[in-house]
Amino acid sequence: MLKYFNYDIVFQEIPDEVTLAVNFALCPNRCKGCHSPWLWEDRGEEFDERVLRNLISVYEGNFTCLAFMGGDNDPETVNRLAKFVKENFKNIKTAWYSGKDTLSEDIEERNFDYIKIGSYKKELGSLKDKTTNQRLWKYYPNGEKEDITYRFQKK
Ligand code: SF4
Repeated sequence: MLKYFNYDIVFQEIPDEVTLAVNFALCPNRCKGCHSPWLWEDRGEEFDERVLRNLISVYEGNFTCLAFMGGDNDPETVNRLAKFVKENFKNIKTAWYSGKDTLSEDIEERNFDYIKIGSYKKELGSLKDKTTNQRLWKYYPNGEKEDITYRFQKK
């Protein structure tokens, strides 16, 4: 089950997009130096198609991308809901921020426009550091994907 802790409109998580970012609890990753340890806990409300549709109806027209921030405890549901967005809201892009180092077998890449992959390692830094182990992939309609991590990093 996915449980959402909160959500916000953000501008830096996905380059060139205005992103409605939904933060999920029940994070199983336990990264050392985690910036949001309160997301490890079992808290918040269940996030399903009904909640997602309601959220989109409130903010529709004010964002271009819906981002699932976390949800590594239930990637199957992340995938199902991303597919739901793709099928019902053609103008909204989808993104997933995973804290795992490899992509879950439950994820179908065609349901996403962006996927961030990689655990947080304090010594390697975040996406804005050139030493980072994390990657942001952009998916194109022809099935190709591009590593756009460089978009976060200062020249
Ligand atoms: S994936 Fe994110 S929220 Fe989860 S433990 Fe790692 S840094 Fe914290």
